[in-house]
Amino acid sequence: MYDVRWDRVADIVVLGCGAAGIAAAIAGQASGANVVVLEKMNERHAGGNTRLSGGIWFDNRNPERAAVYLESLCGDFSLPPQVVRAWAEETALNSEWLQSLGANIAHYGDYIPEYPELAGSDCYRGYLGIDGKIGDELLYRALMRAIQDRNIEVIYESPAIQLITEPSSGRVIGVEAKKDGKPYRVGARRGVVIATGGFEANKQMVRDYLGLANPPLWGSPASEGDGIRMAMQVGADLWHMSNMMAIDGVDAPELGAGFATLGLVGAKSFIFVAPDGSRFIDENVDLRHGHVLTHGRYQLFPRERSFVIFDEQARLAGPVVPGPGELPVGWNMLMEKYVWSEDNLAEIERGWIVASDTLSGLAGKLGLHPEGLEKSVALYNRYCDAGLDEQFNREPTTLVPLRSAPYYGFVSEPILAWSNGGPRRDANARVLGVSGQVIEGLFAAGNVSSTYSWCKDGGFHIADALAFGRIAGRTAAGNEPISV
Ligand SMILES: Cc1cc2nc3c(=O)[nH]c(=O)nc-3n(C[C@H](O)[C@H](O)[C@H](O)COP(=O)(O)OP(=O)(O)OC[C@H]3O[C@@H](n4cnc5c(N)ncnc54)[C@H](O)[C@@H]3O)c2cc1C
Repeated sequence: MYDVRWDRVADIVVLGCGAAGIAAAIAGQASGANVVVLEKMNERHAGGNTRLSGGIWFDNRNPERAAVYLESLCGDFSLPPQVVRAWAEETALNSEWLQSLGANIAHYGDYIPEYPELAGSDCYRGYLGIDGKIGDELLYRALMRAIQDRNIEVIYESPAIQLITEPSSGRVIGVEAKKDGKPYRVGARRGVVIATGGFEANKQMVRDYLGLANPPLWGSPASEGDGIRMAMQVGADLWHMSNMMAIDGVDAPELGAGFATLGLVGAKSFIFVAPDGSRFIDENVDLRHGHVLTHGRYQLFPRERSFVIFDEQARLAGPVVPGPGELPVGWNMLMEKYVWSEDNLAEIERGWIVASDTLSGLAGKLGLHPEGLEKSVALYNRYCDAGLDEQFNREPTTLVPLRSAPYYGFVSEPILAWSNGGPRRDANARVLGVSGQVIEGLFAAGNVSSTYSWCKDGGFHIADALAFGRIAGRTAAGNEPISV
C-alpha cells in the first residue's frame, strides 16, 4: 500500500480514447483486467486524430513480407527486430479483431503500395475501412460502440497531468489527472497505458523536435504531447522525434486548424514557390504520406514554408481542397463542419487565400520577392508551351500555364498532420527508460510513440495504434497486480 489518497483504483488506467487507447482498454478487459479510461476532451471532441482520420488501415496479407516492408521503409533508421515482428504479426490481426467487435469491414478503393519499389511491398493489399468507407468518424464510432457494449468507463474532461510512481522502485502505480478543476488520482494495480496521441499541437515541441515554426494542424488540438512529457518525467527514453507527416495546405485561423490542399485537387495551373519566388520541386511529385522520392532519395516533404500560386483558371476548376464527398476528415470539416465554397470565393473573402490582378501585386501581399515570382511564372509558362519542364520534369499532362488573371496564393506553412515520436517502447509496448531498462507499470501505444522511424505507407498509423494498443492492454493485464 502506498501513501496516496486515490479517488479511484483500477487494474489498468488508459490515458486517451483514440484507436490506441480503445484497443488497449478492450484488450485489457478481455484479458481479465478491470479498466478505466481517462480522456482529456469532452465527449464531443474526444477521440483525437482517430476520430478525425480517414479511419482506414492497410490490409496486411502476409506478416513475413510486412516485416520486410517495414524494415525497407525504415531505411537507415532501423528498429529492433522484435518490434518489427510484433508490428507485422499484430497488424495482420486488425481486421479480424474489428470484426470480432461487430464491425462490418470491406476494402476501400483499389490502392497499391506507395513504395512499390521497396522489398516487402507485396504484403500490402490496399485499404480496409468500416463499411468500405473513409472518414466521417466511422472507425471511432465503431470502436466507441464496442467500449459501451463492454461497460468500459471513459471519464471525459479529465486530462492526465502526471504519473505517480513508487519512490523506491520507480514503478508507475497510478496517475494524477485534473477533473472539475481538482486533482483526481487513479491508482493502477497492473499498469498505466499512455495513448494520448502525438505532439503536433504543442508549438514548442514542434519547433524543438520537428523544426517547424508555426504549422497549422490538420487534426486534433488535443495532441499536445502530454503523454510524452509525462513519460519523460519518469525517465523514459525517446524515439522517432524528428519524424512527421506534413502536407501542403491552407490555414483557416478562425477555425483553429488548416485544410489539406493535396496539390489543389483538380486544378493544374498552379506552382509552389519558395520565399524568393523560385520553384523548388515537381509540384505533382507523389506524396507518400510525409515523404517524397526526389534526387534519388526519400525526403520529408513538405517540411518548410512555401507559397502556392494559382490563376483564375485554377480557381474556376473547383474547390482547392477535397470536399466531404472525397475526403471527410480533419478538424475543420468534421468538428467545425466547414463547407468549402465551390468557387473558392468565400475563402478569398475571408483572406485565407489572397488575390491580385498582377503577379507582382500578389507577391507583395504574400511577402514574396516580386521579380522572382514573375520570372518563375514566365519560365514555368514556357515549359508548359514546350510540353517539357526542364527544371523538375513535372508530368507534361499537368503543365498548364498561369496566364489568366487574377492570380491567387496562400502560404503553406505546411499543415502538420501528425508527429511520430515519443517514449521508446519494446515489442510488448513497455516503455523503456534512458538506460534501456523497462519502466515497470508503464505502457505506450499509438501516436504517442509510433513505430515509424522514417517512411510509412497509407493506413499504417491506424494499424499501428490498434495493434500496439492491443499489445499494451494484454501485457498490462498480464502484469502481477500490486496493492496500491
Ligand atoms: C486528417 C487525418 C487523417 C488521417 N487518416 C488516417 C487514415 O486514414 N489511416 C491511418 O492509418 N492514419 C490516419 N491518420 C493518422 C491516425 O489518425 C493517427 O495516427 C491515429 O488515429 C492515432 O491514434 P492514437 O490513439 O494514438 O491517438 P489519437 O487518436 O490522437 O487519440 C489520443 C487521445 O488522447 C487524448 N488525450 C490527449 N492528451 C491527454 C491527456 N493528457 N489525458 C487524457 N487524454 C488525453 C486525446 O483527446 C485523444 O482522445 C490521419 C490523421 C489525420 C490528422
